[in-house]
Amino acid sequence: MVNVLNPFDTRPAFNDEELISITNFLMMKIDVKTTIKTEPELTKVTNLKCKKCGEESNYTAQHGRYGYFINCGECNTNTTMKMVCVSCNSKNTKVAKKRETYTLNCLDCSEQLTLI
Ligand SMILES: [Zn+2]
Ligand SMILES: [Zn+2]
Repeated sequence: MVNVLNPFDTRPAFNDEELISITNFLMMKIDVKTTIKTEPELTKVTNLKCKKCGEESNYTAQHGRYGYFINCGECNTNTTMKMVCVSCNSKNTKVAKKRETYTLNCLDCSEQLTLI
């Protein structure tokens, strides 16, 4: 009747072979985790903001003669959603709307950014 009530004093008796296979198993798990972590994200998010006052959330998305833009709720300034590509700095970009999500597509490097 020794150590029955003490769960911390259980000493598993692994032999060397078992210990190696457990170590290998753990290493394998770490490898899988690292691989998932380094996978590139599909879409990047830009921080769209008012060109005049820098407001980043109080605005409404609208569509006008010059395409999609945001109307600032703070200073009533219109800022176009069309901007240069963050990956290749190309101005050859196009704004697309899919339901409530606006995306900026680069025609040069096919980078896709979520605007709102
Ligand atoms: Zn503003
Ligand atoms: Zn690009």
